[in-house]
Amino acid sequence: MGTGITLSDKGTMIIPDDPIIPIIAGDGVGPDIWNATRPVLDAAVEKAYEGRREVAWLPIRAGETCWKETGEFVPRESMDAITTYRVALKGPLSTPVGKGFRSVNVLLRRLFDLYACIRPVSHIPGVPSPVKDPDAVNMVIFRENTEDLYAGIEWDAGTDEAARIIALIRELTGRELRPDSAIGIKPISETGSKRLVRMAIQYALDHKLPSVTLVHKGNIMKFTEGGFRRWGYECAAEEFGDVTITEEEVSKNGGVVPAGRIVIKDRITDAMFQQILLRPREYSVLAMPNLNGDYMSDALAAQVGGLGMAPGSNVGDGYAIFEATHGTAPKYTGLDKINPGSMILSGALMFDYMGWTEAADLIRKGIAAAVAARTVTYDLARQMEGATEVACSAFGKAICRHM
Ligand code: NAP
Repeated sequence: MGTGITLSDKGTMIIPDDPIIPIIAGDGVGPDIWNATRPVLDAAVEKAYEGRREVAWLPIRAGETCWKETGEFVPRESMDAITTYRVALKGPLSTPVGKGFRSVNVLLRRLFDLYACIRPVSHIPGVPSPVKDPDAVNMVIFRENTEDLYAGIEWDAGTDEAARIIALIRELTGRELRPDSAIGIKPISETGSKRLVRMAIQYALDHKLPSVTLVHKGNIMKFTEGGFRRWGYECAAEEFGDVTITEEEVSKNGGVVPAGRIVIKDRITDAMFQQILLRPREYSVLAMPNLNGDYMSDALAAQVGGLGMAPGSNVGDGYAIFEATHGTAPKYTGLDKINPGSMILSGALMFDYMGWTEAADLIRKGIAAAVAARTVTYDLARQMEGATEVACSAFGKAICRHM
């Protein structure tokens, strides 16, 4: 049952009222959090649309458990299902060390060219936080997902390949690297940088957000991270010139931002780690290369209560996979204990992406009210005075009651 999501001639998704959405529950605690998540997502859709809309979930397999049972990390049927249905939801996946490719997550991102890892970060009132004013954090991170040191091109110390690269570097630069060096390659391209920044600026426009900040380490890595900064500004000027303005232009304009313009800023990564703590209200959309984005996503998630409540998505042109941002937390597997908030909020993000914003808002309302009522899972309960600790599935039920 259900109907597949299709693409229009312009490349936008056409969402039917009964979309088929592949779901990978995942490894470790994945099945626990999916069991708690599904009733919440279904209840939100039912409440918002009173039977006019319904998701047809299509369970598919991937990850370590799948590999143990079938010999494959991502079976052909799973790849075909995502190819056909375009939008999917997934729990955490583990990859055994030293078996084939590095990570099933990285493989999925590569297969579907999901070049933007998008993570909105905002605080749900009542969720314990290590900072004084967590409500000041309201940012959306666009992390480039396919390049940088994550391209997976590296050679171990002492290998023939490392020795050849060391010799090549000697020949090209005259510089001598230690012979026992391991070597990694950091590619950052104009194409990869511009398509990410383009998506980030378009997002800021669609959501009427005030600024896009390019976060880079271009002062040191002049051509890679510096290139990201330069191409980001070029993209803004060439493709969005009539709706953006740089910070420098704002200063020349007496500090005034003309109505309807998005300010394009840039910050060096280490300084930005201070800014998110000291002046978070000055930032809205952030765009950055892969490694910066990896660190920044977790640091910002910690400011608003940790990974248990952080939603995430991996988006490309015509494909999107929404996912819990934490790992498989193996010690909690099957205990019905872990916080399902990350996957539930990722489901809300997926509904936003599909234009089902009423259902998404109900989910966020339900979570906020469940937290306000202090009926929460162990991770939040241990930091909140007077909280009632409930199981993973019971937290899901509390969210449904509070919608
Ligand atoms: P992890 O699974 O994220 O768990 C580390 C700790 O974080 C847990 O022990 C728990 O802390 C806390 N935590 C994680 N999820 C939580 C949740 N939903 N609710 C409450 N607390 C939560 O990290 P890991 O142990 O480093 O990684 C385990 C496996 O997951 C690895 O195989 C890794 O490759 C994989 N992984 C997958 C993804 C993905 O699929 N997207 C992402 C990251 C890691 P306490 O012990 O303090 O309760």
